[in-house]
Amino acid sequence: ITCDDLKDSVKRPIPNPTCKFEDAFQCYPEVMENIKRAGFQKPTPIQSQAWPIILQGIDLIGVAQTGTGKTLSYLMPGFIHLDSQPVEKRNGPGMLVLTPTRELALQVEAECSKYSYKGLRSVCVYGGGNRNGQIQDVSKGVDIIIATPGRLNDLQMNNFVNLRSVTYLVLDEADKMLDMGFEPQIMKILLDVRPDRQTIMTSATWPYAVRRLAQSYLKEPMIVYV
Ligand code: AMP
Repeated sequence: ITCDDLKDSVKRPIPNPTCKFEDAFQCYPEVMENIKRAGFQKPTPIQSQAWPIILQGIDLIGVAQTGTGKTLSYLMPGFIHLDSQPVEKRNGPGMLVLTPTRELALQVEAECSKYSYKGLRSVCVYGGGNRNGQIQDVSKGVDIIIATPGRLNDLQMNNFVNLRSVTYLVLDEADKMLDMGFEPQIMKILLDVRPDRQTIMTSATWPYAVRRLAQSYLKEPMIVYV
């Protein structure tokens, strides 16, 4: 595992990796309970490096494959991010996770429901799924949207979903989203997401196209390779 600061000018110190779950979440007993219930022994390498960075509010790129624990590396700090915000002020979803496929969206949603706490509500929005059902789900009021770009852009353009309250954005498997041609939809979605957000990106690979995407949408990120 290596970690680097992509900031151009003076480099920031890289936060020490957390060796134990308590190092990251001792102030969040509900998160600790969920982790204990899952029976996890210790953070995976990406989690131990990503958590302290994200919890400091720094944008992060995780170059990591599936199976490394990358999903919880962004979900856990995301829950804490949402928890620290007054809900009354938000008036819409605070976290948005974009994924390339319906399968990944459902997988992320499953982890989200399993580990989320304090009644945070999540919905899954993906192409090929029941559009009216998804519209009803998002209209009921949600905290977290997990979506594929095409369907979310459709709901956004038809004013079924308001993304202006999103302050924690995740681009999961960014390389795959680009391969699938989702860049135009991502662009349109992000026009509605406020610039003063925190952004996390994961990618299995780190080619030019992904670096360019990161440059457009992340602010002075740190990068972790596993
Ligand atoms: P992911 O790479 O996010 O697809 O995660 C792969 C699998 O690892 C999922 O089933 C997670 O529930 C599991 N997992 C995540 N974090 C840990 C951990 N710290 N220890 C053991 N398993 C984990």
